[in-house]
Amino acid sequence: MVSSAPVSTETPSPPERGDFIREIVAADLREGRVQTVVTRFPPEPNGYLHIGHAKAIGLSFGIAGEFGGRCHLRFDDTNPTKEEQEYSDAIEADIRWLGFDWGEHLYFASDYFEQLYEWAVDLIEAGKAYVDDLSADEIRGYRGTLTEPGRESPWRGRSAAESLDLFGRMRAGEFPNGARVLRARIDMAAPNINLRDPVLYRILHAEHPRTGDAWCIYPTYDFAHGQSDAIEGITHSLCTLEFEPHRPLYDWLIDNLPVPSRPHQYEFARLNLTHTVMSKRVLLRLVSEGHVRGWDDPRMPTLSGLRRRGFPAQGIRDFVTLVGVAKADNVVEVEMLEHVVRDVLNRAALRRFAVLDPLKVVIDDYPEGQVEEMEVPNNPEDPSAGSRRVPFSRELWIERDDFMEEPVRKFFRLAPGREVRLRSAYFVTCREVVKDAAGTIVELRCTHDPATRGGDAPDGRRPKATLHWLSAAHAAPAEVRLYDHLFLSPHPGAGDNELFDDLNPDSETVLRGCLVEPSLAGLPVGETVQFERLGYFCPDPDSAPGALVFNRALTLRDTWAKLQAQGRQDA
Ligand code: ATP
Ligand code: MG
Repeated sequence: MVSSAPVSTETPSPPERGDFIREIVAADLREGRVQTVVTRFPPEPNGYLHIGHAKAIGLSFGIAGEFGGRCHLRFDDTNPTKEEQEYSDAIEADIRWLGFDWGEHLYFASDYFEQLYEWAVDLIEAGKAYVDDLSADEIRGYRGTLTEPGRESPWRGRSAAESLDLFGRMRAGEFPNGARVLRARIDMAAPNINLRDPVLYRILHAEHPRTGDAWCIYPTYDFAHGQSDAIEGITHSLCTLEFEPHRPLYDWLIDNLPVPSRPHQYEFARLNLTHTVMSKRVLLRLVSEGHVRGWDDPRMPTLSGLRRRGFPAQGIRDFVTLVGVAKADNVVEVEMLEHVVRDVLNRAALRRFAVLDPLKVVIDDYPEGQVEEMEVPNNPEDPSAGSRRVPFSRELWIERDDFMEEPVRKFFRLAPGREVRLRSAYFVTCREVVKDAAGTIVELRCTHDPATRGGDAPDGRRPKATLHWLSAAHAAPAEVRLYDHLFLSPHPGAGDNELFDDLNPDSETVLRGCLVEPSLAGLPVGETVQFERLGYFCPDPDSAPGALVFNRALTLRDTWAKLQAQGRQDA
């Protein structure tokens, strides 16, 4: 089981996999620097979680679970202008779906606003912070560059008493947005720009989802994060590489404040995937500009989108485990995700019959009105999955491209005069092709061999092809949505292209007039099955009785294995 017990009294077990972070954690425990590992996952509720977050979640919850510690869920809700309750709710649901549990350890940075304010006052009193009247633009201008030191603000010399007075009045709401900020007094010539008197508080007259109008000043990420870690007793604060240059500031604040514990920050590489984007800002644009059906559109890299697409949580957990933790940024081929998910589905998904592009077949020598319930295995890879009964009758549907009037070389499926196997039913032979006035094939007339019932011939003959089929009288109509990459380029927006020019116009194809076996009418949302010979599909939440909708999660073709083989050849 992957979910970590929120509190565990068990002896810490050795890590399952060694990576540089697990090695640090193991050493800290072994050498007694840490008694219980406490990690946290700190999403900002300004969007839905994506598969990159799954990597961070798998890491922090995974480590806590493996080492007998706990992982907190903490909402980093310090920017009320972008944050919404809808997002927090979705984040909780997605983490649970992924299979992780924070137990009672649900926290909000906003719960610490009063404490953070007091610590800001402490810094001012100690001469380590001051109120600055420069505008945001001016502060940027004074900051300097990587090669040039910054310049000191004219307000840097302000007395502690004056800063205290102004900071109190900032809190009291006396000043408009952007009029003043609180800055740490560190070093305007520091080689690390984050140490050049970073902003700790800004004025934002905005209603907060949790604290309402209690505050009109809000701490920055830098001021809130490490201190929240310290309040919660986080031992290993794991985040992505872009925070590496912030670590000296993280440590400076911890060292200069009377915090109750000493957390440490460790950075790992972000997960990026080809043919998609991970930035919440861009994902929000895709949603708000109507390029997709919503945050949970099956083409989105969001967890809710992947779930709707039919990817099981196990597949996503396996994928982030396989990707592992490294210190160098990398882009993973989306085909690898598909490969891992396909592997999970191949083992677990029940097989079902569906016909996406139906062609009528009439078995002339089969009695009219007769129906046989054919026993069809649910998963040939797993006998314990049992079997189901699928009705068979005189009029059937098969896939239009399983027939060729003039078969080309290597086409072994149905053709005039040729015998094929209908899976778990009978061998049938095509006797006649019926066309409409326009010359389109509308029906095939066939005969069957009654001795082959169940799909095997007593004389041992074996047709070269086995087709799936549906009884026309019993099949249920369905809409089927096929999905492809959201962006055409493997690295969207990498060149000169405007990012959205690169959107794949064929990322969604809606097929109407498809047919599925009757048992699929009751398949619950969230369950992915294999439509035999076609791919993996699951019901969409839009699906309703009488108006079934299925999403294609994946085709059966594994392109990653091919990519890997190519890579080996090139190497
Ligand atoms: P975005 O840049 O997409 O807006 P974010 O980093 O601002 O994402 P947060 O909600 O702040 O999103 O992220 C919560 C945690 O998830 C952070 O610790 C962050 O480092 C981690 N995280 C975000 N994106 C990725 C990613 N692509 N790969 C791994 N971890 C990630
Ligand atoms: Mg962030």
